[in-house]
Amino acid sequence: MDQRNVSDLAGQLDGSLQRPGDAEYDTARTLWNSMIDKRPALIARCASTEDVVASVCFAREHDMLVSVRGGGHNVAGNAVCDDGLMIDLTLMNKVEVNSATRRVTAQGGCTLGAIDSVSHEHGLAVPAGIISETGVGGLALGGGVGWLVRKYGMTCDNIVSAEVVIADGRVLRASASEHADLYWGLRGGGGNFGIVTAFEFQAHPVNTVIGGMIIHPRAGARDVFRFYRDFTKQAPIELTAYCACLTTPDGVRVTALMACYCGDPAMSDAALKPMREFGSPIADTMAEIPRIEMQTMFDAGFPYGNRNYWKSSFMDELTDDAIDLLVDHANRMTSPLSAVMIEYYFGGPSSEIGETETAFAHRDAQFDLGIIGQWQDPAEDSEHMNWARTTYDALQPHCNGRIYANLMGGDQMTEETQLRSAFGVNYDRLVTLKRKYDPTNFFRLNQNIKP
Ligand SMILES: Cc1cc2nc3c(=O)[nH]c(=O)nc-3n(C[C@H](O)[C@H](O)[C@H](O)COP(=O)(O)OP(=O)(O)OC[C@H]3O[C@@H](n4cnc5c(N)ncnc54)[C@H](O)[C@@H]3O)c2cc1C
Repeated sequence: MDQRNVSDLAGQLDGSLQRPGDAEYDTARTLWNSMIDKRPALIARCASTEDVVASVCFAREHDMLVSVRGGGHNVAGNAVCDDGLMIDLTLMNKVEVNSATRRVTAQGGCTLGAIDSVSHEHGLAVPAGIISETGVGGLALGGGVGWLVRKYGMTCDNIVSAEVVIADGRVLRASASEHADLYWGLRGGGGNFGIVTAFEFQAHPVNTVIGGMIIHPRAGARDVFRFYRDFTKQAPIELTAYCACLTTPDGVRVTALMACYCGDPAMSDAALKPMREFGSPIADTMAEIPRIEMQTMFDAGFPYGNRNYWKSSFMDELTDDAIDLLVDHANRMTSPLSAVMIEYYFGGPSSEIGETETAFAHRDAQFDLGIIGQWQDPAEDSEHMNWARTTYDALQPHCNGRIYANLMGGDQMTEETQLRSAFGVNYDRLVTLKRKYDPTNFFRLNQNIKP
């Protein structure tokens, strides 16, 4: 590549252009999952929409492979590429709140923590994920579930509009009244259609919540999961709860109920009573806390720099047989940092949206199975990956053939059948949309819909 062209791009950017050996090169290419170690030829650290446009046009002109980094949290590691141009949005992290309309505008590189801290000052919350370092870009475009999902819906359902740089370098606004087809595709279709430089979200008035963990001995895991299955189905939508087999930091294998109640505190006792009275827990940390505290409660369990291999699938029913298998495999877990988790999202406004109304199709999803393989030593890769694969394979007969795109592992993303499972009934319409907005598959390092 002609170095003069590279210098021209560097000169155009409000942010900076990083080449191998430059000061910020290694920081910018390092993702959350330390299994990913790729070396782009160039990294455009964008600080503005104009920077993103310049980077997209440069990559087109020079026929370069492009990756897009939001929060850098995706386990599959698509945010970075070898030899191509990494478009890094990390510096685009501004958040603005309009208290009157309860709308929050967040640049495309924001972390959830950045959005939460500004929104919380206004007593508002954008429904999103449960770890504050996750990027809103990948999360919102693929769906977005978290502690407010049952009451206020998924993150994608709260996108009011988006500013998008598409593959030909144009900047479009997508909303219900502008480029409505693109707006449809952005709400569940992932990063396939362009780079979102700013999201406008509908936020909701949530200031404090009742949240925490109720921890049971692992020996009673089967009973805890059965209780969880029956309880969550009849719990009010203000309550979102997950159930997991995990290991405490001091090495005790436990079963944990993690829960957040976002309704009227006066009603919380009744809502939480069955969960708090069930069995003989070792610990119960449920308490009224600022929502922002809930949003960072589990961060320490998912630090930067660990090795991660995840698998995920939806289940229609959490049968006794499935629970038995889940617990058997959890008990054979090879790393104390790993976990097997069941999440229940159903019952709120997102479940009332038709499966073809937005690109996110899994509206009737009940339980989501997450197999989280996490460890530190590269020499142990195959041992822990094998555990995750074996657990996933064993539970497959109990899954419904649908997958939450945001939780797909890297090997799931390369298989067309798995991608079809991720986009469900909307797959063919997404292909048509891809042909319109990105006919050359310029944005291909993602849960890719091939034009
Ligand atoms: C520890 C952890 C916890 C998680 N918790 C949750 C959770 O609670 N709820 C949930 O729903 N999901 C959760 N996830 C999954 C998460 O939603 C996805 O990993 C998501 O892709 C992360 O987004 P990111 O911007 O950080 O990813 P990145 O790795 O930066 O990007 C992933 C892909 O997203 C696309 N992308 C990112 N930003 C943009 C943008 N602005 N415009 C266009 N495309 C973009 C690109 O295609 C990119 O390849 C979690 C993941 C991890 C690792």
